[in-house]
Amino acid sequence: MSEEIVKPDLNFVKEVISSGGESLKKCYQCSTCTVVCGMTPDNSPFPRKEMLYAQWGMRDKLISNPDIWLCHQCSDCTAYCPRGAKPGEVLGAIRKMAIKNYSKPSFLASMVNEPKSAILLFAIPIVIFLVFMMIQGHFTTGIPRGEGGIISFSKFMPPIPYIDFLFIPLAALVVLSFVASIKSYWADMAKNYGKPTDADINKSITDTIIEILSHKKFSKCNVTADRKIAHLLVFYSFIGLAITTSIAVFYLYLLKWESPYPQTNIIKIIGNISGIALLVGITMIVSNRIKNKDKAGIGSYFDWLFIVIVYGVGATGMFAQIFRLLDIAFIAYPMYFAHLVFIFALFAYAPFSKMAHMVYRTTALVFAKHVGRDKSI
Ligand code: SF4
Ligand code: SF4
Repeated sequence: MSEEIVKPDLNFVKEVISSGGESLKKCYQCSTCTVVCGMTPDNSPFPRKEMLYAQWGMRDKLISNPDIWLCHQCSDCTAYCPRGAKPGEVLGAIRKMAIKNYSKPSFLASMVNEPKSAILLFAIPIVIFLVFMMIQGHFTTGIPRGEGGIISFSKFMPPIPYIDFLFIPLAALVVLSFVASIKSYWADMAKNYGKPTDADINKSITDTIIEILSHKKFSKCNVTADRKIAHLLVFYSFIGLAITTSIAVFYLYLLKWESPYPQTNIIKIIGNISGIALLVGITMIVSNRIKNKDKAGIGSYFDWLFIVIVYGVGATGMFAQIFRLLDIAFIAYPMYFAHLVFIFALFAYAPFSKMAHMVYRTTALVFAKHVGRDKSI
């Protein structure tokens, strides 16, 4: 029989508790949570064992555990736990700590996840865009109008040399940060949870993509069954908005065609459908959280920061367009300014915020499939 020496990390236990897993100590290992969980594999199932690891402060075993990402936070375990130990929330707290642990640079991870830094997170892009406005002379000469005297956001904040010169390097830094984080996460998973086999990695990736596109696992949720539609709406709206951005780049750099585009153009159609889907999806997420707060918990600062940013992106984008079409400049421009601030927050803080769950969960799913831990598609 192999023996394992447990080296408890008491600071880790304290951190789990302060990150949303305050109910951790109530667990008395009855295993009800593992029985009701529809996502766990039969072999070495979760979340009971993770509750034990967390109580014992087994940091390394939890932070690099792919199982914490196989959990889709459906909260069935939390609803049925006889002790009110909220295992779903404890796993959520550990996921947040995994993101904080692997994301680089680490000081940004601490900053993004500290409620006391919330004002600073938004103050940074506000100052950047105010400086852009000052450089262009908007405070002295006013904001120039577009052709025919219309409100034009590309005259207010031109892509070149402002928006794109800020967002393109920012996107490159975000990608680099994710690559560095995921590399060390994968290495730790391989060290602690089995070396990936010779199996075809392409199949693991393809199966993971199919699983994500279909959101099939969400159908196994009972207590929060309506999460699937809400999550699908938000997920596909992000894809729609990414397509919109790609078309905008094509129009601007290849066709030399600046916004605003006609409402009937494909870019506006995809953008508006995606924007509405985003707002509907995120509203459903908020309403589900409030509706199920007694059974599933209301969520932590980490969850709500992401919700606020996504809401901000959708709502300010929609209002900026409506007030531009109504030709009400004194509301349209501030709305567009706020839209840019929220987009900056969404991208710049992605490796450290809940947005990163997309990348970590995808990586963990690929790994779990590759080592034969997760056989579902
Ligand atoms: S978290 Fe709750 S259901 Fe799960 S083992 Fe502990 S006490 Fe039992
Ligand atoms: S939240 Fe859902 S998926 Fe996660 S451990 Fe609990 S029952 Fe399983």
